[in-house]
Amino acid sequence: MSEQHRIESVEVTRERVLQRIRDDSRFVLAAHESPDGDALGSLVAMQGLLTALGKDSQMFIAAEDLPLPYEYRFFTLDGLIQAPPPDIAQRTVVFLDCGNIDRNSAIVLQQGRHLLNIDHHHDNTRFGTLDHVVPDASCTAEIVWDLMHGLGVAPTAEVAQALYVGLITDTGRFMYENTGPRAHEMAAELIGAGVDVQAVYRRLYEEMPPAKIALLALALGQMQRFDSGELTLAALSAEDFHEAGAQDSYSEGIIDHLRAVQGTKVAALVRELCGGERSGQRKVSLRSTDDDVDVSQIAREQGGGGHRRAAGFTTTLEVAPLIEFLRGALAEQLHATSNGPATATVA
Ligand code: AMP
Ligand code: MN
Ligand code: MN
Repeated sequence: MSEQHRIESVEVTRERVLQRIRDDSRFVLAAHESPDGDALGSLVAMQGLLTALGKDSQMFIAAEDLPLPYEYRFFTLDGLIQAPPPDIAQRTVVFLDCGNIDRNSAIVLQQGRHLLNIDHHHDNTRFGTLDHVVPDASCTAEIVWDLMHGLGVAPTAEVAQALYVGLITDTGRFMYENTGPRAHEMAAELIGAGVDVQAVYRRLYEEMPPAKIALLALALGQMQRFDSGELTLAALSAEDFHEAGAQDSYSEGIIDHLRAVQGTKVAALVRELCGGERSGQRKVSLRSTDDDVDVSQIAREQGGGGHRRAAGFTTTLEVAPLIEFLRGALAEQLHATSNGPATATVA
């Protein structure tokens, strides 16, 4: 059996990753599609780390994921490539924040000399030749930060900022359950290394295009609650995006409002994807409010995945059957002894 099927301890895989980085000289870095703050922050920070070590490193982001959502455009993407390099077979490919290989569209990246899979999703499919999966890490950026220590590299202000973006986006600004002492220690060190907290906050959470607020208003205006409010859901159609003048990525953050509604066990945001190949598909984001429901389990039933309290999947199901699926899956976890979803619906 190939080495990736042997699950080793995090201490062992950490050492092996450090050794691989020391030994190899050419790298390509990649993250999951529609990259979020953790994917991009980890990518930019790893690029800075490898460059500091004098390595030849390139960052791959697929053309369809560019330009980046407006809130991430401040990242300087030195070494960006939009197509896998011709010498891929001689390069070590580092996948960051990528729970399964299908979440990166560039199949050719799998031809890398070594595949380092660095991630914090507990359901990571361990597709690498070397898997360094740390489910206890609040974000993938935290793992990159740890590797940086292991390699004796001090973060520049730019690398510190990238790591900080990964940290605050994946911990919901230190409010999600994955926030522990380590997340705050990491923040303290990064702020000490030059992160301008207020400037990052303004870029990520303010300076919003008015169309983003218009989309939020449409979502909240059509919020639905099911099963005594245990499921709170909004479904945005391609037409809603058009009406608001919004891009796909403007839906970021809406789900936090749904989750905040009293009585909610699971919040779901369904959005119809508009762009070319993806049209006709819906992306579903799920959040649970406590440990009673593992939304990654629900997402995996539809070919997706994620964390216990934050997960997602893409589907071709229409909205009505999708809602029935979600109600059924939720009822199964919450009311294991009952025969299906409760019937009461709250407006
Ligand atoms: P999102 O709702 O897109 O913010 O994603 C929430 C979490 O679920 C993140 O950790 C994602 O990595 C994960 N996730 C979202 N969509 C998928 C998918 N199609 N497959 C696997 N994991 C996913
Ligand atoms: Mn991510
Ligand atoms: Mn992450």
